[in-house]
Amino acid sequence: MNRVIVIGAGVSGMTAAICAARGGASVTVLEHMDKGGKKLLMTGNGKCNLTNTHIDRECYNCTDEGFPMEVYKNFPYESTIDFFHSICLYTKEKNGYVYPVSEQAGSVLELLSDELKRLNVKIKYNQKTDSVRRTSQGFEVSVEGYTYTADKCILATGAKSVPQTGSDGSGYEFAKAFSHSVIKPLPSLVALKTDSGLTNTASGVRRDSKAFLYIDDMLVKESHGELQFTDGYISGIMIYELSSQAVRALDGNKKVHIELDFSPDMGETELFDILKKNADRTMNLIKAARSLFNDKLIKGIILENNISPEDVSDKNIRLFAAKCKSTKITVTGCKGFDTAQVTSGGVSVNEVNPKTLESKISKGLYIVGELLDVDGICGGYNLQWAFSTGALAGTDAAR
Ligand SMILES: Cc1cc2nc3c(=O)[nH]c(=O)nc-3n(C[C@H](O)[C@H](O)[C@H](O)COP(=O)(O)OP(=O)(O)OC[C@H]3O[C@@H](n4cnc5c(N)ncnc54)[C@H](O)[C@@H]3O)c2cc1C
Repeated sequence: MNRVIVIGAGVSGMTAAICAARGGASVTVLEHMDKGGKKLLMTGNGKCNLTNTHIDRECYNCTDEGFPMEVYKNFPYESTIDFFHSICLYTKEKNGYVYPVSEQAGSVLELLSDELKRLNVKIKYNQKTDSVRRTSQGFEVSVEGYTYTADKCILATGAKSVPQTGSDGSGYEFAKAFSHSVIKPLPSLVALKTDSGLTNTASGVRRDSKAFLYIDDMLVKESHGELQFTDGYISGIMIYELSSQAVRALDGNKKVHIELDFSPDMGETELFDILKKNADRTMNLIKAARSLFNDKLIKGIILENNISPEDVSDKNIRLFAAKCKSTKITVTGCKGFDTAQVTSGGVSVNEVNPKTLESKISKGLYIVGELLDVDGICGGYNLQWAFSTGALAGTDAAR
């Protein structure tokens, strides 16, 4: 019987432990917080967006673009749903987004924990792993002066985002000790900082918009959804989805800007015609725009572009309409790991086997979940990654 140690009781670690125990291994999970799954409880605003019915390579960022789908092929959506059913977790779907029927992340954590208990998996809380070492027999895991031994070791420590949930980045050091390379971890699914006064004037405004991300003046990605302005930052799911590439480009000293279309359902000519008709009656651009845009946004666009609201000439109305359709915002940074939903970068995927997540450098060592250089967009893709990688690693570790 293989003795398997899992470091970290997040979704990837708990899934790995369940699959290893089902495969007949004797499993111990070491968790340094007073309980596991703290991040899971925050997911989907507490409703837990478990996965998505539509998954393709566009849904993940990774230095090796093909890797996430190779892993997913080995533990796809259907296997994930089967796994859920095996722990009595039933799901419902809305526009492809999959949630527990209970719509409670707490119920998911409870079902995972109950299964660990049923399988006699030993979970040790308040056990901070300090180091992991290879021996001739297997692995030695050192925890505050005490040493655990195992035949196989699964690193499931998460990454660096929201460190108050326990993911403090310590897993990178464990992987590096086995000569794994780590792509610089950076915040992802995070609000972007801008130098535009518009974000201050329009602070608090939420608006359906389109965003186009440019890196060194090349269009690299676009997104559509609810844009949110807060002092100095733009956010919302549509911005989060651009953040991984934007933040990495900034880290590489590239120029990053976003062009925002505040009126995606209306062409510039249609917009001009409505504004013109309104302005002919109101003789004021702010009043003319009120039927279409939030006051703060109108004020922001006018101030940023030195547009006179009293000037209702065609030229001025056309300029305003053009800025509503395309406003360029320079991105200068992002919020920190404390609010980033995930981490981009991590342990290089070229050094792990996509079928098993076993290290190609050290046999018997597995690396799973967010600790790897893979981050998904919003929509359940990060939990799917944690389930797929955890299940494949746990199953293999028991063999
Ligand atoms: C606010 C928020 C909302 C989110 N919503 C969604 C969503 O709806 N859908 C989705 O798909 N994704 C969502 N995510 C992302 C998703 O939660 C994570 O990608 C996923 O939980 C990562 O799982 P993991 O097991 O790899 O890591 P984690 O969940 O971070 O677990 C790692 C565990 O390892 C432990 N640990 C770390 N170091 C040590 C050590 N040295 N010794 C012992 N234990 C250690 C930690 O305490 C932790 O329990 C959200 C994230 C956040 C922050």
